[in-house]
Amino acid sequence: MRKTFIAGNWKMNLSKQQATDLAAAIAASIGTGTNVDVAVCPPFGYLDAVRGALGDSAVRLGAQNLNANESGAFTGEISGPMLRDLGCELVIVGHSERRELFGECDQLVNLKAKAGLKYGLHVILCVGETLEQREAGETNRIVGSQVLGSLADISPEQMSNVTLAYEPIWAIGTGKVATPQQAEEVHSHLRDILTQQFGDEVAQQTRIQYGGSVKPGNAEELLAQPNIDGALVGGASLEPESFTGIIGHG
Ligand code: PEP
Repeated sequence: MRKTFIAGNWKMNLSKQQATDLAAAIAASIGTGTNVDVAVCPPFGYLDAVRGALGDSAVRLGAQNLNANESGAFTGEISGPMLRDLGCELVIVGHSERRELFGECDQLVNLKAKAGLKYGLHVILCVGETLEQREAGETNRIVGSQVLGSLADISPEQMSNVTLAYEPIWAIGTGKVATPQQAEEVHSHLRDILTQQFGDEVAQQTRIQYGGSVKPGNAEELLAQPNIDGALVGGASLEPESFTGIIGHG
């Protein structure tokens, strides 16, 4: 009942030409209808060009970050209304690289999530633990508090525009993928947290993506888990064959 959702996070990669070529190749492969929701999140500067390259395909355009304010003196930032103006339908918030490299805490991630929703963007909220936290048995506590902190003041109704992404930090860009069992255990815990916070109906409807070294070769087993509803893909989303290969398992 939850439609699989595969999103590509291109991070700070590619030239403009490479970005539009990649978008056009994905759009050609997906076409105008698919039983999997697909999105790509290019760097800000390429959003407009990628929007054009996606044409009328079913591939949705997303951004990797936003500022929580609507407009004003925020040098170097981009707002929700600007992202909408550029054709974005979704935005990633709380990615571990933003949390670790740019000091974003749950409180700021919460402001960004609320701003994304306010300005009509679907929000992909990322959570995940470090290797040290996992080894200390802290995984469930950490991801639980990230989810609750980042979703503070968000209503059950608004949750229809939120997707969670469980991304263990030790699996991002490292080639170390969580086993399907490890991922499923955390996804199931996250769904329990959603049930406690928003009720069973919202919890059953909310999609939870897995992210961390997803490739065509491991996607099938991950996506077969009952609580894994899609993938947030970094490295493998930069090649049309690997990204569409993952989508093919959805
Ligand atoms: C990510 O950064 O969201 C990610 C999952 O990256 P990778 O697939 O490269 O591990």
